[in-house]
Amino acid sequence: MGAFEIQVKSKRGPDVAPPGGAEQPPDGKIQIRREDLVEDRYHRLRLISWWDQERLKDAVVVVAGAGALGNEAIKNMALLGVGRMFVCDTDAIETSNLTRSVLFRLGDVGRHKAEVACERAVDMNPDVRAVPIKGDLRYVLGLGLLRRADVVLGCLDNIAARVYLSRHAYRLGKPSVDAGLDTLNGDVYTFTPPESACYECRLKEADRKEFKRRQSCLKLSRKETATGKVPTAPTIAAIASGLQTQIAVRLIHGMPVPAGRRLGLYGMSDVFFDYHLDVSPECPAHEWIECLRGREVTETPLTAAGSTLDDLLATIREHVGPQGYLSLEDDREVIVGLACAACGVRREALALAGALSEDDARCAGCHEPMAPDVRSTFDGTEGFGGRRLAELGLPPLHIVRGRDDESGREVLIELTGDVPTYFG
Ligand SMILES: [Zn+2]
Ligand SMILES: [Zn+2]
Repeated sequence: MGAFEIQVKSKRGPDVAPPGGAEQPPDGKIQIRREDLVEDRYHRLRLISWWDQERLKDAVVVVAGAGALGNEAIKNMALLGVGRMFVCDTDAIETSNLTRSVLFRLGDVGRHKAEVACERAVDMNPDVRAVPIKGDLRYVLGLGLLRRADVVLGCLDNIAARVYLSRHAYRLGKPSVDAGLDTLNGDVYTFTPPESACYECRLKEADRKEFKRRQSCLKLSRKETATGKVPTAPTIAAIASGLQTQIAVRLIHGMPVPAGRRLGLYGMSDVFFDYHLDVSPECPAHEWIECLRGREVTETPLTAAGSTLDDLLATIREHVGPQGYLSLEDDREVIVGLACAACGVRREALALAGALSEDDARCAGCHEPMAPDVRSTFDGTEGFGGRRLAELGLPPLHIVRGRDDESGREVLIELTGDVPTYFG
């Protein structure tokens, strides 16, 4: 059976063909291929002239946040047959999440959001692989996952996580689509490095100061988290994330997207908006970021759980020179001890700054939180050489910087031995 033709009567919106995608014959007729006649799960999607189900099947998407927005994004991507998603979230499901979370049921309360969301995605579409990553993305999301992602979806509810995600996606040259909600309002930002504005370009001076202040004093975490209590409704989550996912689908197809723009809806007045975002000359991220697209990341057999600091230092020194050291200054600090000046005591500790709570760090004598001794460079003289990289707070598949000040050389080392953990 050969291909046959149908006449296209009307078209809505401009027809934009993806580069190298389906051809549009000039006479307004479209070709239907033999596989288009097979009524499988993806049949209606494939009828979209430029649709390429294979691209979606091969796509890797990182979803940051499995709350109201994340639920919608994950549901959409499962329906679309996006091949692989990595879903990162800190929280467990609460009863109050059930009004805005299409993937969660009453019986899921108390279970981990990312885990349940991934189970339901696979339940909806067994073609999909969904891997939960449990914890604060600043500590648990290996940057090698961003490096392998086609698109990063921000479905977050706090500035600190947004800034981290934006900086590192930008650094690794990955497009990100960030959605946000507030009552009945919703917006979607599309960032495509290195040309477009980034998330931090839009922060006001006061936001930046507040963010910096909180980062600098946040060595020990407090019990109450400042996240997750945004007043909002499932309706706007569906709208914002619908838009967000459609932009992601176009990115995966290599089609034009609203780069450096903020699109959204004022839900009480039904006004849709579309703002251009300028690259801010005051943006600290733009100053700080060296866009790594085209810059080499060295793949190594190292793993977070199996390799030691000494193993990593040896690899770094192979590349930069004998004075090579590990620098975590790009994204983390490690608490290497706790001290109480009042009681004159010091205690050994090894934990990521921010991951250790005040309660974990209380002095046995006076019960006050002890002062953390924090560092972000290691040359092996600290006494932790035999400790595993995971103990130093490095997640699987992370990318770290090695440096030798004498030779002036630098290397970016990836814990590539962890690939099977996520892609096996
Ligand atoms: Zn910026
Ligand atoms: Zn004390």
